[in-house]
Amino acid sequence: MFAPDTNSLSTKPNIVILATGGTIAGSGKSATKSAYLAGKLSIENLIEAVPELTQIANIKGEQISNIGSQEMHNKIWLKLAKRINEILKKADAVIITHGTDTMEETAYFLNLVIKSTKPVVLVGAMRSSSSLSADGPLNLLNALYVAINPQSKGKGVLVVMNDEIHAAREISKTNTTALQTFTSPNAGKIGSVFYGEVKYYMQPLRKHTTESEFDISKLKSLPEVAIVYAHSNDSDIFIKAALANKIQGIIHAGMGNGNIYPSVQNALTKAAKQGVIVVRSSRVGSGEITANGELNDKALGFIPSDNLNPQKARVLLMLALTKTKDPQKIYEMFLKY
Ligand code: GLU
Repeated sequence: MFAPDTNSLSTKPNIVILATGGTIAGSGKSATKSAYLAGKLSIENLIEAVPELTQIANIKGEQISNIGSQEMHNKIWLKLAKRINEILKKADAVIITHGTDTMEETAYFLNLVIKSTKPVVLVGAMRSSSSLSADGPLNLLNALYVAINPQSKGKGVLVVMNDEIHAAREISKTNTTALQTFTSPNAGKIGSVFYGEVKYYMQPLRKHTTESEFDISKLKSLPEVAIVYAHSNDSDIFIKAALANKIQGIIHAGMGNGNIYPSVQNALTKAAKQGVIVVRSSRVGSGEITANGELNDKALGFIPSDNLNPQKARVLLMLALTKTKDPQKIYEMFLKY
């Protein structure tokens, strides 16, 4: 192991692991078959599986939820964020074990609402605990090494998967099953962690954590924002459904550079006139949405998502709507966060 000599630490750091479920806590009947259930192991099981954790740090575990992250919802996010803000008043860092399906959304949400410069690290696995070559235990150990590294402070929320460190705003799940599924398509990883050896190469520049204006401390719910996915021969029925359900914001996962089918564009223009915030993102998976390019955003009342993918644009728009309904101010937030 190249990991730092932890025996030389005079006092062990205090780390809290918050478990939410996912494949890292998943288990199946066979080590060589793909079938398994997410969220079967408890936080105690996860900690026991990696004895090195308690040699390196004082570890406390808490179970926040035990779900496949496709079940993740705003109420768990609020509970998680409030708990992390509380814990970080005393502990040195927090690690969150999480399913990989929505890990990028949880990471970006926390990145915008955690009020501390201390490390907050999300970690998961692509192979369940019972699988041959399970990746969870080493990912968790690497997450701990990232969490206790002084250079991890002030970088916003981090995600550790498969020997890489990514910034919360940038990371995305890009392959349904591959071990190397997480990438940061617009920016690249910010560091690596190889058997505990942490190296950083980049620093996130968009505002986060202590520089963010979003405060969830008193919130019990978040504004409703829907994502509508574009395609050829598209239809406006989902925009109409969103409006009928009093949705406050719509993220349009557009074609290419955020382009929109004509009937959908008409429906979205009407929605924007009624005060619904309409954000243009893209289904492509990387790249910026050009403001006033093929579409005149100013005239149509739309907001380009900068380079946030639809699921991250939804996170930011929900938080933006807790502050303002002014499209210009919300656009400025998309350029800031
Ligand atoms: N659907 C599960 C989840 O997101 C499994 C995916 C994973 O954790 O790798 O929790």
